[in-house]
Amino acid sequence: MFALIKSYFSNDIGIDLGTANSLVYVRDRGIVLREPSVVAVQTGTKNVLAVGTEAKRMLGRTPVNIQAIRPMKDGVIADFDITEQMLRYFITKVHNRKLTQPRVVVAVPSGITEVERRAVKDSVTHAGAREVYLIPQPMAAAIGAGLPVAEPAGNMVVDIGGGTCEIAIISLAGIVLSRSLRVGGDEFDETITSYMKRAHNMLIGERTAEEIKMRIGSAFTLADELTMEVKGRDLQGGLPRTVLVKSEEIRESLKEPLASIINAIRATLEQCPPELSGDLVDRGIVMSGGGALLRNIDQLVSKETKLPVTLASDPLVSVAEGTGKVLQSIEFLKRVATSDRN
Ligand code: ADP
Ligand code: MG
Repeated sequence: MFALIKSYFSNDIGIDLGTANSLVYVRDRGIVLREPSVVAVQTGTKNVLAVGTEAKRMLGRTPVNIQAIRPMKDGVIADFDITEQMLRYFITKVHNRKLTQPRVVVAVPSGITEVERRAVKDSVTHAGAREVYLIPQPMAAAIGAGLPVAEPAGNMVVDIGGGTCEIAIISLAGIVLSRSLRVGGDEFDETITSYMKRAHNMLIGERTAEEIKMRIGSAFTLADELTMEVKGRDLQGGLPRTVLVKSEEIRESLKEPLASIINAIRATLEQCPPELSGDLVDRGIVMSGGGALLRNIDQLVSKETKLPVTLASDPLVSVAEGTGKVLQSIEFLKRVATSDRN
């Protein structure tokens, strides 16, 4: 009976505070919210005009008096107040008023500082949480992807988000080694933007660059190469124009950011304790995050590390699923939440 009451009143939530997208998982319900980590404010003030999907639509299209901000852009909290308002908005949006004071697990970038961790905890507490736990995003990604993180064996995860790439080797529910670099999907977009300027004399916006990446971007040779008509502004004449772009040229332009990711994966492998390295030979690497959806990135990583590479079943939700899984067991939650002090 007690268990029944408890589960009825349980509205514990898990939050993936991503640099590009934030997701909220409600215990026993699954993922209930999925919105871009974007906040629109009145320029020069902290007056929030819109959050999430509505705010993202404004990116690159705002008049001077509106500013669309991505408070987590580089995997650090650029603005505490804005982040707090965004968290509040997400929590309030899913909060069922019949239920009170949830336990909240927030998956945060592993590179954030102690001050930033404090700020996230305080924000979530202000938003009404009873207890707040922080877990590193790569740990949540590994759990969400179904890796047996609690076993005494090496598990490796590479999560490529918007602003960061997080690499971690996990054993016994703890992070043995991790690395976070500020290279991710945003950097791919920026590289494509400069390539379009350089090679096609064309200015394109942030959204168009992302669309090119998603529609024809790749990390490794494609069986069928693709093309796309890209619209933008001519650099010389200044007028709107269309050019036909090939997947081969986009792949070539993405070489540099991809090389940074490969180098970081290699450096992490080189520091790995030998027993765990041995485990990785068979278990390989699991990739998650939206960046893992870049075509054939698994093939590139596999070729460069000579390890088997698999993608999480739904890379965009691994971290949120992981926060959901740890909510099921408070003992497990306490183990993984404290293991992020490494
Ligand atoms: P974060 O965890 O930092 O919020 P996400 O895991 O949500 O990031 O991934 C967002 C990134 O993934 C963005 O840069 C987006 O452009 C990229 N992305 C999403 N889908 C694809 C795709 N199909 N191909 C390539 N990149 C993608
Ligand atoms: Mg993420």
